[in-house]
Amino acid sequence: MTPIHVASAEEIIPLADLGAMTAEARHELDAAWDDVVSRSVFVGGDPVALFEEQWARYCGTQFAVGVANGTDAIELILRALGIGPGDEVIVPANTFVGTVEAVVLCGAIPRFVDVDDETLLVTPEIVRAAISERTAAVIAVELYGNMPRLDELAVLAEAAHIALIEDAAQAHGSAWADKPAGSYGVAGCFSFYPGKNLGAFGDAGCVVTDDSTLAGAIRSLANHGRPPDSPHVHSVLARNSRLDALQASVLSVKMVRLDAWNAARRKAVEIYLRWLRADRVRILTVEPSARIAYHQHVVRVEERDVVREALLERGIQTGIHYPIPCHLQTPYQTFATGRLPVVERSATEILSLPLYPHITQTQVLRVCECVNELVGESAHE
Ligand SMILES: *Cc1c(COP(=O)(O)O)cnc(C)c1O
Repeated sequence: MTPIHVASAEEIIPLADLGAMTAEARHELDAAWDDVVSRSVFVGGDPVALFEEQWARYCGTQFAVGVANGTDAIELILRALGIGPGDEVIVPANTFVGTVEAVVLCGAIPRFVDVDDETLLVTPEIVRAAISERTAAVIAVELYGNMPRLDELAVLAEAAHIALIEDAAQAHGSAWADKPAGSYGVAGCFSFYPGKNLGAFGDAGCVVTDDSTLAGAIRSLANHGRPPDSPHVHSVLARNSRLDALQASVLSVKMVRLDAWNAARRKAVEIYLRWLRADRVRILTVEPSARIAYHQHVVRVEERDVVREALLERGIQTGIHYPIPCHLQTPYQTFATGRLPVVERSATEILSLPLYPHITQTQVLRVCECVNELVGESAHE
C-alpha cells in the first residue's frame, strides 16, 4: 500500500482545525455578529429564537432550548425531571466528566457502568443489569458520534419507568435508523463548545425535546425561575444558564454547513478505515442502524503512549478522549462500586487521530503511514 503521495514529514497535522471552519464562513459570521452588535440584542431575542427553531428542526424535535453549555443542559434536564437526592442515574464511566458532574450537581447518585468492548458504548443489556429500585434515569452517551442501540434503550427505559436522556454533545448530525441524535430520549443535550462538530465562539449548549412541559421547565430553570413573559416573577429557585445572542448567531450561520462538514469528516474516516493496518489497529464497531457524524476517529493500539509520542515527533497531533475514566477521578471515586474492565483497559489504548472537515487526503494518508509504521514497530520491541 505505498504508491500514493503522502504529506511531507515537516508539516504539522493538528488534531483539529477550528480556524479553517471559521475562515470558510467568515463573511456570514462577521455579518451575523455585526447585526447583533448593532442592534444590541445580547441575551435572548430573535437570534436565539431563530437558532432554537433551526436546531429543533434539524434534530426532529418539537422544542430546543438554548442554554449556557452542555453540562448545564444535562443538569437542567435532570432537575426539570425532578431527579435529585436518593435517585440513581446510570452513566457510562468513559465519558466527558460533564456528564457525571451534572448528575452529582443535582444531588443524584451516578451509577457507573462498563461499556461494550466493540463500540465503547452502553448496551440495553448493560443498562438493564444496572437498574435498581432507585434508578431514575439513564444517560446514553453518544461517544465520538457513535450511536448506541437507542430504539431498544427507549423501550427498556419506558418499561422500567426511567427516563432515557441522550448526551449528544459529540453527535451533532448522527442518527439511529432514521431518527436524529437527541430525538430518542425524553430529552437530548448538546454542547456547542468550540471543538464540537457544531461549535460556537465560546461556550453554548442546548436541550432538545418533544415534551412541552419539560421544555418550559428547563427554559424557566435557565432563566432565574421566570415563567414565560413574566420578567419580575421568580417562581422556582433557579439559575442563569442562557444562550447568548452572539453565540446563537454564530451557530445559525455555521449549522448551514454542518452536514457538509460532517460529510468531509466521514470521507477522512473512510480513508483511515481503508489504510490503517487492521491487524494492529483496533477500530470501533458501528451498528448497522447507526448513521454517524464522526466527532473523533478513535482507534485502539497497544503501547498507546509510545505510539502517541512518536507521532508527535513526526508532527502529528493526537488526543485521548479520555485518559482517566470518570469513576477514577477524585470527586467521583466515592460512587464507584467496582472495577469496570472495558472502560479501564480501553482508557490505556484509545487514541484520537486528526479529524476535521478541512483535513486533506494527503494528510490522512500521512497519518496512516506513520501509525502503520509505529504499531508494526512497537509490537516487536
Ligand atoms: C462536551 C461534552 C459535554 C459537556 O459540554 P460543555 O459544553 O463543555 O459543558 C458533555 N458530555 C460530553 C460527552 C461532551 O463531549
